[in-house]
Amino acid sequence: MKEFWSKRIQTMTPYTPGEQPKDQTFIKLNTNENPYPPSQQAQQAMQGAVGTALRLYPDPDGDALREAICGVYGLKKTQVFVGNGSDEVLAFAVQAFFDGIPPVVFPDITYSFYEVYAALFGVDCRTIPLDEKFTIHPEDYRGGNGGVLLANPNAPTGIGLTREEIRALLEGNPDVVVLVDEAYVEFGGETALPLIDAYPNLLVVRTLSKSHGLAGLRVGWAAGNENLIAGLNCLKNSFNSYTLDRLALAGAQAAIRDEGYMREIVSRIIRTREKTAARLAEMGFSVCPSQANFLFAAHPKASGKALQDGLRTRGILVRRWDRPRISDYLRITIGTDAEMDALCAALKELIP
Ligand SMILES: *Cc1c(COP(=O)(O)O)cnc(C)c1O
Repeated sequence: MKEFWSKRIQTMTPYTPGEQPKDQTFIKLNTNENPYPPSQQAQQAMQGAVGTALRLYPDPDGDALREAICGVYGLKKTQVFVGNGSDEVLAFAVQAFFDGIPPVVFPDITYSFYEVYAALFGVDCRTIPLDEKFTIHPEDYRGGNGGVLLANPNAPTGIGLTREEIRALLEGNPDVVVLVDEAYVEFGGETALPLIDAYPNLLVVRTLSKSHGLAGLRVGWAAGNENLIAGLNCLKNSFNSYTLDRLALAGAQAAIRDEGYMREIVSRIIRTREKTAARLAEMGFSVCPSQANFLFAAHPKASGKALQDGLRTRGILVRRWDRPRISDYLRITIGTDAEMDALCAALKELIP
């Protein structure tokens, strides 16, 4: 089966994305997509970008999109990098900043793409266990490592660190890059963006996939000291000059500028999350305190697999990992109120 494969990929175990069913009959609570549509202004901008200009390559630097980001987040253009989804930005960062000597560190329970990128790029890594409440302790990450990779809020737990805890991590690791993946930060986390000027080793990574309802567009960005941004550009321009197409650049720019709409759909999701967390707790679930657009929950009387399978039979998809410590937990994306009603009704049938 692996005939002609390079040695590098013969031993790779790739990341498994959440299921994307081909029919739309499922209630999809398995990939942390936003239940609300993207900004109207973003949709119109993309429609406007369809035309004869598509014969031309897009702007390789994504200047207009970077200007929009700078306007909303108070950054300088030299501090911003844009890419084809934050997954691509993370992949570039792992290659650009980590040698793996000594190993790069990240929590034992986190976004599983980190270990995949480390393996693909030959970067040695070491995991640091979360405590029994799935909390990260910054002092566990102090020195002796070749870089730090953190999702904040963490995935799939939804638990976040404060900006001061991120500062402690930066103080403890002044000689290596500390990458903070803020894919979910808009849903209640504390961003590390204000620390960029003070810490030349901080890279913050963001995405439009969750907060802006644009998972289908594939746009992410990074902010950091201009030296780090130059490193990312060096890597990108050694790989693919045009990572973002004209439609994505136009849509992302308009979506970023339509900050009010993003805030509105995010607040709606937060309200639904809090209501759903209370209902799950009432049913006996232990629910992690979430600052993201999902809940991580387990029930003492039902296995994670039984619940996941039972939900699927009832037309609801959720995510679960057959991994130590978390195999009985479901990661449930926050959908609309109606979708969460359906989820709670189905779970009531499934709990003994
Ligand atoms: C969803 C997610 C991403 C990927 O986002 P894209 O921009 O869609 O590639 C990155 N990091 C974490 C922790 C995520 O959950």
